[in-house]
Amino acid sequence: MTKNSISEAAQIIKNGGLVAFPTETVYGLGANALNPFAVAKIFELKERPSFDPLIVHIASFDDLSTLCAGINENIMRLAKHFWPGPLTLVLPKSVVVPDIVTSGLDTVGIRMPDNSIALELIKQAGCPIAAPSANKFGQLSPVNAHHVKKQLPNVDYILDGGNTSVGIESTIVSIEGNTCRLLRPGFITLDDIEKALPNTFIFNSTKPEKLVSPGLLKSHYSPKKPLFIINEPLESLPEFSGLILHGKNKAGNLSKTVIYTSQSHNKIEISANLFASLHAMEEDEIVQRIYIEPVEEKGLGIAIMDRLKKAAYQYNNSTN
Ligand code: AMP
Ligand code: MG
Repeated sequence: MTKNSISEAAQIIKNGGLVAFPTETVYGLGANALNPFAVAKIFELKERPSFDPLIVHIASFDDLSTLCAGINENIMRLAKHFWPGPLTLVLPKSVVVPDIVTSGLDTVGIRMPDNSIALELIKQAGCPIAAPSANKFGQLSPVNAHHVKKQLPNVDYILDGGNTSVGIESTIVSIEGNTCRLLRPGFITLDDIEKALPNTFIFNSTKPEKLVSPGLLKSHYSPKKPLFIINEPLESLPEFSGLILHGKNKAGNLSKTVIYTSQSHNKIEISANLFASLHAMEEDEIVQRIYIEPVEEKGLGIAIMDRLKKAAYQYNNSTN
């Protein structure tokens, strides 16, 4: 099931099946975006609620014109600047986009991934590919083929492209006329977007009280073991804890399972290794509770902390 034939995978998409495939962010669970029956299988396999819309992946700017009802200068400027890349644009949808893809909204999320296997798959399938992350709803995002297999053993095909490079999901913005709203933080920061769109009103709509995008839940991306963000000395953490730290030798000679995401505390490396380190702790037979070090909420640190707070939410905010 885990193979590397793009043409076989493309044939499955054409036949209305599901293919898990690599992008630069995380692995996607893809179906022909224009086939509502194929898209329905994504919701079924992921156990994803139908109110949570999917991102449509494209390989050419022609696909953008087909899927989007009104392209303006700001849309083109962002697309030309950041695509292929980890930026999703939420835009007015055209009639060809089935309602199931957008959860009935009149907008559609579109992105051109920066991964040659993904682009070739879309080209060979001959259609845009709707794809959420290839995991069960609410659980850890997959950043390699093994992670996909663990959660979705029944998917028709897993296209193996090794580890993803960015490691966290795309930044999402909506654009309406001269207004651009950040809906989900990601690798591309609000600063990057402001630089690319100097004459536009830009809002940060990711604060909990301002959530305007469905699917942006407080709890998400969670491992199957309790996860805590560290705010106490490492020596005081309980036995059988697994520690995920950023930077060199921080754990000294503590007898605990430790994973370092980045020896140099580099945020790009931390985000690339974030989900992989959580998967490894989830699979470690000795570790009972996972503790992860926070990072400063600046630049890419905003997206990293967004994922961590959501991953840890159910364990840090429960009443029992
Ligand atoms: P993912 O689960 O990583 O594929 O991301 C999908 C997320 O993109 C959803 O949970 C929504 O928050 C967001 N999204 C997709 N389409 C739209 C849309 N039309 N309007 C607002 N947000 C959207
Ligand atoms: Mg997801």
